[in-house]
Amino acid sequence: MPHHRLSLCKGHFVEWFEKHTEKTIKEFKMFTKNDKILVAISGGKDSLALWYVLRKLGYKADGLYIHLGIGEYSERSKEKVYKFAERIGGNVIIVDLKEEVATIPELVKISSREACSVCGLVKRYNFNKVAKEKGYNVVATGHNLDDEASALLANILNWNEKYLGRKYPVLEEEEGFVRKVKPFCKFTEKETALYALLNGIDFIEEECPFSEDATSVFYKEILNKIEERSPGTKLRFYLDYLRKVYPKFKKEEDKKNLEPCKVCGQPTMGEVCPVCRLKEKAGVPLTG
Ligand code: AMP
Ligand code: ZN
Repeated sequence: MPHHRLSLCKGHFVEWFEKHTEKTIKEFKMFTKNDKILVAISGGKDSLALWYVLRKLGYKADGLYIHLGIGEYSERSKEKVYKFAERIGGNVIIVDLKEEVATIPELVKISSREACSVCGLVKRYNFNKVAKEKGYNVVATGHNLDDEASALLANILNWNEKYLGRKYPVLEEEEGFVRKVKPFCKFTEKETALYALLNGIDFIEEECPFSEDATSVFYKEILNKIEERSPGTKLRFYLDYLRKVYPKFKKEEDKKNLEPCKVCGQPTMGEVCPVCRLKEKAGVPLTG
């Protein structure tokens, strides 16, 4: 791990990874052993590894899987999630989008947004809704350093100031939203993959068919090129954003006017939330 000036054997890497997960949780005051955590699991390496390590460290963590209805890809990822839950004896909540709203391919057809944007919207909505309904006070996702740094780069290239005041590894509970955390935000994709492999975690390796030419993949490649030349750049880019940039932009972002959606009650800026509007477009009867 040149960015940490550290070389470790298998056993010590696992130890290092777990210690640093705990350190990040404490540093950002993400949660304690008293919190009820809902881990959003996709069947990929990051989220399965996250669920595994949180339980190993003694946290109360259940899983939430959203069945997106993206053909074989969703079927295979569901299998991985089921098998893994069985292996660790974990409780997993399943939300089937086909029953709740419509599948992602159906929603993409009726929406003017891009696939990843619709999918992200519907996922975030369900993370919060399920957590609220089932009594969890924290939602944890498997976002890693590569995810966070590439999103940051994309948003800086577009000078998206709103983004700069919104993205942080902990978003506190507020007006109808449960707390959201990203305990893997300092680990690279390689590190989470390695941890998953070393623990025999069977995860889905294929990417979502919609994300094949996503720009985020391109930005990740660019950051990896920079990282190769100057190890440590990726982590510093992200951590310096958290330390120096986020606090300045956050102040502006604090003034939000969230109201409960008139249909479903989830917090939103308009009268009816974007997911209920999508439902209406898809011809799904609107119920609270
Ligand atoms: P992605 O947006 O696909 O990069 O995923 C980011 C994080 O969102 C993952 O690490 C998971 O925690 C969560 N996630 C993604 N897809 C799903 C899903 N289908 N069900 C539940 N959580 C998901
Ligand atoms: Zn709504």
